[in-house]
Amino acid sequence: RPDLPSKCTYKPDTPLEKSPHIHTKPQPKPKIMPNILSNIGNSPLVRLNRIPQQEGLQCEVLVKCEFFNAGGSVKDRIGLRMIEDAEARGDIKPGDVLIEPTSGNTGIGIALASAVKGYRCIIVMPEKMSMEKYRNASNPIAHFDCTAEEILDGCDGQIDMLVASAGTGGTIAGLSRKIKMKCPNCKVVGVDPSGSILAQPETLNKSDVSFYEVEGIGYDFIPTVLTRDVRKRIRGSSGSALYCAIQAAKDAGLKKGQRMVVILPDSIRNYMSKFLSDDWMSQRDFLELEQQMEPSKEWC
Ligand code: PMP
Repeated sequence: RPDLPSKCTYKPDTPLEKSPHIHTKPQPKPKIMPNILSNIGNSPLVRLNRIPQQEGLQCEVLVKCEFFNAGGSVKDRIGLRMIEDAEARGDIKPGDVLIEPTSGNTGIGIALASAVKGYRCIIVMPEKMSMEKYRNASNPIAHFDCTAEEILDGCDGQIDMLVASAGTGGTIAGLSRKIKMKCPNCKVVGVDPSGSILAQPETLNKSDVSFYEVEGIGYDFIPTVLTRDVRKRIRGSSGSALYCAIQAAKDAGLKKGQRMVVILPDSIRNYMSKFLSDDWMSQRDFLELEQQMEPSKEWC
């Protein structure tokens, strides 16, 4: 359907019936998966016990473990969705070559979906990422249609706070739009590293930091899929989100009976030469820092 837009034209206050995009519903996991792409989505929502207790939190803390997706990250959802939406628009067909500039998880997600669906795929790693990279509406929509519905369903519609780290902002934009429609009082907290420029008001971006080691989050341009009006910056991928989530729960005074959901986008698998390397860690004084920040050493 060539009338379907590939760029993000959906505004936060547009009623869903007027959305120009194709919307889908989360599918239950089949007992026998026809292929590995069926193991994208339906990630586990897991209650944390010890960390909230050690931190003196009264509220329930649930983590959405996106590293259980087939390719290991939250980006498998958008890799598959971008390809399926492009197929639905008639833009691509199996046998075509897909080219994506990405240095990270999106490349893994697209490569996986391409391999299974029969596309050739070229992933380029840009020295500097271009604005074109994340204009793709299928990014937030994958989260609006599926990840958010999974969370709402898992929580029986009761979520008091949602915390997610932001790179393109596709995850937080998609999640917050849908969750705010169903739980208008839910606070949405975005996690963005010092040195990035995504926060509003602009004064929050003022920092001496121009380089940060955390991957996948933070930008030096504003990606078009990110709607900044529904998020708040603190500081700061999974460890950053959880660290900030705990601070945010304390700041907001979340009480017993209230519930916070934190998105864990991927796992240590992608960063073994960094965060699992004592040499790499100590060259940057991170080992010492971890020892000083007692609680965080158990999360990283
Ligand atoms: N964490 C990691 C490890 C990522 O790769 C990404 C994607 N860049 C994010 C968080 C942020 O996700 P989004 O681009 O949807 O904001």
